[in-house]
Amino acid sequence: MTMRLNELERRLETVKGFPSPSSRLEQYQTPASLAARLLFHAAVNGHITGKRVCDLGCGTGILAIGAALLGACEVVGVDTDEAVLATARDNARETGVEVTFLSGRIGDPAVPVSISPCDTVVMNPPFGAQKAHADRPFIDAALQIAPITYGIFNAGSRQFIESYIAGRGRVDEVISGILPIRRTFSFHTRPNKEIPVQIMVIMRESA
Ligand code: SAH
Repeated sequence: MTMRLNELERRLETVKGFPSPSSRLEQYQTPASLAARLLFHAAVNGHITGKRVCDLGCGTGILAIGAALLGACEVVGVDTDEAVLATARDNARETGVEVTFLSGRIGDPAVPVSISPCDTVVMNPPFGAQKAHADRPFIDAALQIAPITYGIFNAGSRQFIESYIAGRGRVDEVISGILPIRRTFSFHTRPNKEIPVQIMVIMRESA
């Protein structure tokens, strides 16, 4: 491994978050600790270093940038919000890594035409708190472009995901974590909240 877990986490702590987060798009930045954990685990499994990695719903780019730090040979980040991509590009430049950030909407069609197949998808998609099943198009897109996906989901959603992807893929591994959410939107009543989440490793099954 090119980098230790705590060094990766320290580097990712400098990645800037959303300048003006949109609740509709569920724009929460993944904390550095959780992002580092997902990426390091994927790297230990052999799915990052030297691989082509795509970050779906990349936001300001923390997962994409971390994949590049761990030696991915090519990293593409995609988001529907043009404004956050500018922050993502700044973040990559300041971290000293090369990532291609593309504007694209996951959903209709599932995969924007600009996105090519890759080896590994990493993603922290919308959980569907604002719009039910908002994570489904991301799962569909991930299964279309890569044989393996590391994603962050609501804790306890494994069975829903497994039935949703039945015949197309399966959840291979589940790692529990915590997503600390700072008060971001006016409908947040408490200053801080901790949401139990799970990193799920999804393997595509060939038809
Ligand atoms: N992956 C980032 C951001 C998580 S927030 C991180 O880990 O920090 C979810 C992101 O998904 C937001 O940046 C939002 O703009 C993006 N998003 C929401 N719906 C989308 C869609 N249909 N297509 C592409 N991006 C979308």
